[in-house]
Amino acid sequence: MNMVGRTSAVSTRNASLAKTATERRDDSGPAAADLQASDLLAWYDRHRRVLPWRALRGEHADPYRVWLSEIMLQQTTVATVGPYFERFLARFPTVQALAGARLGDVLAAWAGLGYYSRARNLHACAKATVEKHGGQLPRREAELARLPGIGPYTAAAIAAIAFDEKAVPVDGNVERVLARLHRIEETLPGAKPALRQIARRLAEGVVATSRFGDFAQALMDLGATICRPRQPRCMLCPWHEACLARQHGDPESFPRKSARREGKLRRGAAFVLLRRDGAVLVRDRKEAGLLGGMTEVPGSDWSADFDEGAALSFAPRLSSEPCLAWRRLEGHVRHVFTHFPLELSVFVANASDMAGPPRGCRFLPRDEIASAAIPTLMRKVLAFAGALAGDDGAKSSIRQRRRARA
Ligand code: SF4
Repeated sequence: MNMVGRTSAVSTRNASLAKTATERRDDSGPAAADLQASDLLAWYDRHRRVLPWRALRGEHADPYRVWLSEIMLQQTTVATVGPYFERFLARFPTVQALAGARLGDVLAAWAGLGYYSRARNLHACAKATVEKHGGQLPRREAELARLPGIGPYTAAAIAAIAFDEKAVPVDGNVERVLARLHRIEETLPGAKPALRQIARRLAEGVVATSRFGDFAQALMDLGATICRPRQPRCMLCPWHEACLARQHGDPESFPRKSARREGKLRRGAAFVLLRRDGAVLVRDRKEAGLLGGMTEVPGSDWSADFDEGAALSFAPRLSSEPCLAWRRLEGHVRHVFTHFPLELSVFVANASDMAGPPRGCRFLPRDEIASAAIPTLMRKVLAFAGALAGDDGAKSSIRQRRRARA
């Protein structure tokens, strides 16, 4: 652009800002003219993050990688997902490989990521994709949303990122950006429909370029790297002139949130029965519900009114050794689920090498514990009881007990 052109562009911009100030008399938000999709896309072209599941510039996105990453990233950070994504992809490199796998193997590859219903749905979705769509994920948002485990957000993300369909996924990062740009006073989650409406209006500016995938990822990157929950880097933001929260100097107070209700503490007991050869007694949880289908040590239900005095009535019994000597370990294992915190008392006993498992349980050899579908909570229990193989288990156990005493 020559100097005349640049001056003209600046004048137009200033005129636009002046007009916008008049239009903003009711403080309802920046005018569309100020929030140019092209400004965000230009920023994205310079600052896009390189992520294991993301196509590099000029490459086509792989729908399988996009889908897998979007499922893994639900409730989980990018830093945590990275190594899991690589390992999972190496184990199940295609939709067909995932569809043909045993659910237990999928859960084992997922172990540690939490929210295990995601893994079960991922497996069911792979099967449905092979059976109904010839192994290819459909490209339209509505069709994607009919597959297991794909909600409205994930359908929009896959449609936009994998297929450049006109869709705008609005996750927590994007909600934060939009709520700040417009200083939305309504609290979440009530403000979600209004935020989705704003996102749809913004997407109109992308139509000319058809870069819907880039636009979706640009919004995500802006929220993750610039418009951070704390100390947003407004001076580096492509929309900083238009942003109302930045103008008022209070971006960190958006989005407004309702007071959080913390779930009531639940308590229970877990029983670690170790054979002399190191094998540990385990069972599988019911398919439906919390940690569904995962492997656990036997234990009681978890409830707010758990009676510690009656804990041993939940202990497993062996027909070959009716008098197991259960010892209660000092302290507790604590874990926080989304809706409630949990505190478990841990009991330990030893059995002979010849001991057979009670009905519904099995002895898991010590060297198979690492690869089994054991959720984080149960790994904490095993570490607490000193039942994990190698130094890591011993160190973790000692750390847990110290914390429990603190
Ligand atoms: S100017 Fe600041 S608060 Fe506003 S969208 Fe950009 S980073 Fe967020």
